[in-house]
This record gives sequence, C-alpha cells and structure tokens, in this order.
Amino acid sequence: MSRESFSANTGCQHVELARNTIGHVQICPDCGVVHVSLQSMTVRLTPDAFEALAELTRQAYVRLHADARVFAQTPAHAGVAH
Ligand SMILES: [Zn+2]
Repeated sequence: MSRESFSANTGCQHVELARNTIGHVQICPDCGVVHVSLQSMTVRLTPDAFEALAELTRQAYVRLHADARVFAQTPAHAGVAH
C-alpha cells in the first residue's frame, strides 16, 4: 500500500516520449507507468492501457477524417477569429 512508490518523488526518471501544444507523454521505466499530461491534468496508465488509448484515439482520428458527415458536424476551428 505504498503510494510513494507510485509517485514521481522516489527518484524515478521519466522519459519523455512526445510533446506538443496540448501536452506531453512520459514513461517511467522503473514503475512501468505512462503519464499522459494534458494541460492541467495528468492520467497515469499502464503501457497496455496507453496502447489501447492510442489505438482508440487513432481510430477516432481516422474516422473523423474519413467520414465527411462526422467532420461536418464538428464545430471545427471554433476559436478562429475572422
Ligand atoms: Zn516511477
């Protein structure tokens, strides 16, 4: 029941896998935890769960771009000023 072993304060060395404007993804090889940080929140996942999330996101992305009807219903670039 040691929460400390699951935190970042025990000498874990997180390795950054990717980063862009919305957030970043790091993995802790020691704990086997993938940290997905999106702006103000961080989700910690097992590598298997992260892989499932990545696949889920990829499928949604493909669908979004493959299906014009879905894309048309999206409030695309809602923040763009004219
Ligand atoms: Zn760790």
